[in-house]
Amino acid sequence: MQKSWFWIITLCLLLLAGAIGAMAPLGENAKARKSAEITAVTDEWRAALPRDPEAATNAYMARIPAAAKARSDAYFEGGYWLQGIGFVTSLLIGWLLLASGVLARWRDMLEARIKQRWVSNALVIAAFLLLTSLLGAPLDVYRGFYREHLYGLANQGFGPWLGESLLGGAIGLVIGTLFISILYQVLRRAPATWWVWGSVVSVGFMSFMMLIGPTYIDPLFNTYTPLQDDKVKQPILSLARASGVPTDNVYEFNASKQSNRVSANVSGIFGTAAVRLNDNLLRRTSLPEIEAVMGHELGHYVLNHVYHFLLSFGVMLVVGFLVLKRVSGWALQRYGSRWQIRDLADPVGLPLLSVIFGSFLFLMTPVFNTIIRTAEVEADVFGINASQRPDGKAEVHLKLTEYRKADPGPIEEFLFYDHPAPRKRILMAMRWKAEHWPNP
Ligand SMILES: [Zn+2]
Repeated sequence: MQKSWFWIITLCLLLLAGAIGAMAPLGENAKARKSAEITAVTDEWRAALPRDPEAATNAYMARIPAAAKARSDAYFEGGYWLQGIGFVTSLLIGWLLLASGVLARWRDMLEARIKQRWVSNALVIAAFLLLTSLLGAPLDVYRGFYREHLYGLANQGFGPWLGESLLGGAIGLVIGTLFISILYQVLRRAPATWWVWGSVVSVGFMSFMMLIGPTYIDPLFNTYTPLQDDKVKQPILSLARASGVPTDNVYEFNASKQSNRVSANVSGIFGTAAVRLNDNLLRRTSLPEIEAVMGHELGHYVLNHVYHFLLSFGVMLVVGFLVLKRVSGWALQRYGSRWQIRDLADPVGLPLLSVIFGSFLFLMTPVFNTIIRTAEVEADVFGINASQRPDGKAEVHLKLTEYRKADPGPIEEFLFYDHPAPRKRILMAMRWKAEHWPNP
């Protein structure tokens, strides 16, 4: 491929990304919201619900207006297609980087000027990460900005959104370059066993990111302040104490800056715990709903889900790196010289490795989803026992149907859901309520 072609394609894609951003339907937000609001009810309505869990769940589900259901189903099902399109796009980007020879030229230029190999390698890795994000920009803008506005889920104009994306991209570039450079060091030092050590290093790196993320990265995007409202704070602290979570403060953050989504988390690793909830949760839900959500989040902490995830992802990585080792050996033999990749340890081959590894991850999506979804079910059970707020839980999951299809089929749930389907979670709450009748 002519080298000028690569830069013309990159420029066109960047212009396309800008055009998609400029054309986003910013006005949809309020309009869509009005027409598809969940029907509000009173405490009397909840008190009059039947004891039978199925019947009570159906009463909740009947409060989703047809327009709201159609909208959230379309949003969520579109997400399935986007996963496939994202995968195909990543293959095309990988091919473009290899066929254009842009990284090989960059490496040759660097090696003529820089003595230290690790520096030139790191700069090749950084170039790969940067070019990958530039070439993927149209899809990122469509998925992260245009589509969120189309479905009335976002609150941010294009300028601020772009600013945050660039900041996130810059952080990702620095951290990604550091991480991949370390992996290449492992690959060089242990050519036969790197697939095991690479997984160990990756898990260590993920733990490190979980340790620093809440303190050093999250505050770059949102403002975290101690929760002022004692009527909300004290019940949450009480829940935390009852569950043995080591914390004495609750923080709120201004997620409404970006979107209307309700969310909360209890993050922390190695004995730290930070209980945080967003302003959408505070603004859009009642105290029983907040307690149900916080019970769930505390459940993730108490049940040590962070360590479960690290362990299961570590095992998946060992398998993934082994697949990568086998397939890349074959691919390098066949195409290495055509794409000017010297050997496996040459970062010019990074697009090839990322295509192979990305294919593995894509095929493993249902497995990842099932690992996470299983933990979510556990946190649900913990949360409802801790908070004892079945109707609060049902209410909040009814609200979450605005961006998660409420009632999928079993295969659909297995393939695409990283949380249980909303209807199942409401049913679970109503089942708990029935078993604690008449004093829920
Ligand atoms: Zn969860």
